[in-house]
Amino acid sequence: MADGAQGGAYDVAIVGAGFSGLYMLHRLRELGLSARVFEAGPSVGGTWYWNRYPGARVDIESQEYCYSFSPELDAEWTWSERYAAQPELLAYLNHVADRFDLRPDIQLETRVTAAHYAEAARRWMVTTDRGERVTARHVVMATGCLSVAKEPDMPGADSFAGASYHTHRWPDGGVDFTGKRVAVIGTGSSAIQAIPQIAAQAAHLTVYQRTPNFSVPAHNGPTDPAVAADWAANRAQYRQEARDAGFAIRAVRQAEETALAVSPEERAAAFEARWAHGGFCLLGAYSDLIFDKAANDTAVAFVADKIRSLVEDPATAEKLIPKTYPIGSKRICVDTGYYQTFNRPNVSLVDLIETPIEAITPAGVRTTAGEERFDAIVYAIGFDAMTGALSKIDIRGKGGAALRDRWAEGPKSYLGLMVAGFPNLFIVTGPGSPSVLSNMAVSIEQHVEWISDCIAWMGERQADAIEASEAAQEAWVAHVNEVADLTLYPQANSWYLGANVPGKPRVFMPYIGGFPAYREKCAEVAAKGYEGFLVTAGGA
Ligand code: FAD
Ligand code: NAP
Repeated sequence: MADGAQGGAYDVAIVGAGFSGLYMLHRLRELGLSARVFEAGPSVGGTWYWNRYPGARVDIESQEYCYSFSPELDAEWTWSERYAAQPELLAYLNHVADRFDLRPDIQLETRVTAAHYAEAARRWMVTTDRGERVTARHVVMATGCLSVAKEPDMPGADSFAGASYHTHRWPDGGVDFTGKRVAVIGTGSSAIQAIPQIAAQAAHLTVYQRTPNFSVPAHNGPTDPAVAADWAANRAQYRQEARDAGFAIRAVRQAEETALAVSPEERAAAFEARWAHGGFCLLGAYSDLIFDKAANDTAVAFVADKIRSLVEDPATAEKLIPKTYPIGSKRICVDTGYYQTFNRPNVSLVDLIETPIEAITPAGVRTTAGEERFDAIVYAIGFDAMTGALSKIDIRGKGGAALRDRWAEGPKSYLGLMVAGFPNLFIVTGPGSPSVLSNMAVSIEQHVEWISDCIAWMGERQADAIEASEAAQEAWVAHVNEVADLTLYPQANSWYLGANVPGKPRVFMPYIGGFPAYREKCAEVAAKGYEGFLVTAGGA
């Protein structure tokens, strides 16, 4: 069945060597297929290689944010902290690459620049920035939802004479901010993790905030041996519980009752208990928090009071309280000492709604209130999410149609897995799948397994092409939008909607119908002989 890897011809070309690409390669190898992974970076690990900023760590408990496909891997790996930090996650993914002997089929420091479908041959021609051209029956885009950083778009950003950093491209070996005056621009998850660490080192830190975020405490610490033992004894069951949970996160502990059905005292106690537990479980306190504005307001009020209690200066506290969108409609941040950082004498907050940035200058940052001088600026300004990495590759399907053009009005896919007109091109956690609205380790495994099962199914039938039908794609896109509109999510100017990138079409990209419903739909489609897909065998 294998095409043979000689002469640059593979059964499958995989783009990206993060969580997705590594597991994809492993599964295809098990099927006896030839596959080659192309990774732009100098290391495997994806997200966990690139985002080496101080404080970077997972926002889902480590026991849940890892692969589940290998009991042996589970048994030999132990997590040192409740929420693993970036170096440990990178070590884990390197261990996976070694343990499953993946490295011989991974080509690092190689960016895929183009992928063109040759209709007659039913093969993809893949071009890299090293000038290579390989062919493959299938291409799997494991390019990541959050792998293309937004570049600073303020006037004068290139003129700054000090050091500039982006959280996504942190220097190897770290940065020493001792004695320095530092600016952090942005207050998303990356900034909220980095700010306490930078503040502890710098002479002075100024945080430039445009939109405040909701953040909940992680209560991180060394792994509790009792928790590790419990997981070791019940891992299979707990993994299944995660797969059966709406966000594929077991720790959310989704309650069934609604927020306004209980008394204010009972509600306050429930929120308090979940705040004390830490992490995303706050959002699981009531079943209607992401559907009903009045219910959501109760959680907003609870967190606002928490911020007021944690931040000593009332004016600073008010600035840090989000007031323009529902809680949960942007991914909640999970922090370690974020709000308390603003009690330090060496930290100040600039509200960019009151005093917008006019320019980055050679000396620092100039807002409408004046210029502040810095030795270093840290940009924590986020990503061209979900479509960024794909739109950077010249992807052309049937008739030479460019994916960029097809998606000019916003991404369309069937199940977030395939796009009509682009046969044999699979996307891992693409727009239209739960993806970034879930525990991505779980979503990635489900996608990789669905894709490899599909490729195996094609092999058994000697099918040479599979493609989403336009009708199935349109119906799925309509469903994705319909479900999003039932929730409060579209009310936030989030990167889920592309709202953070000027000019990007405003389309709600991930699927919010819940991981279990989505997984069931994917399984049903496969069981019905890949319903909604067009399959070609021997040209027919
Ligand atoms: P990535 O890890 O992004 O890997 C994609 C790889 O593809 C990258 O290495 C990139 O260099 C490569 N690539 C892209 N384009 C090309 C090309 N043209 N040619 C060659 N290579 C290419 N999710 C959670 O569920 N929980 C978390 O706590 C969490 N924390 C996160 C923290 C940060 C800072 C960020 C940015 C994201 C976080 N995420 C989290 C989301 C995270 O991206 C996923 O959990 C997961 O790591 C994605 O794995 P991936 O392999 O799909 O993509
Ligand atoms: P982000 O959530 O998009 O945050 C970017 C921040 O930069 C926002 O505060 C944004 O303000 C601000 N910003 C952007 N452009 C700006 C400009 N021109 N001027 C001033 N401010 C500007 O990006 P992120 O923090 O990197 O996180 C992205 C996602 O990655 C998260 O939602 C999460 O899914 C994942 N992540 C997870 C973790 C974790 O805890 N494990 C850590 C990091 C990232 P506006 O909101 O006003 O646009």
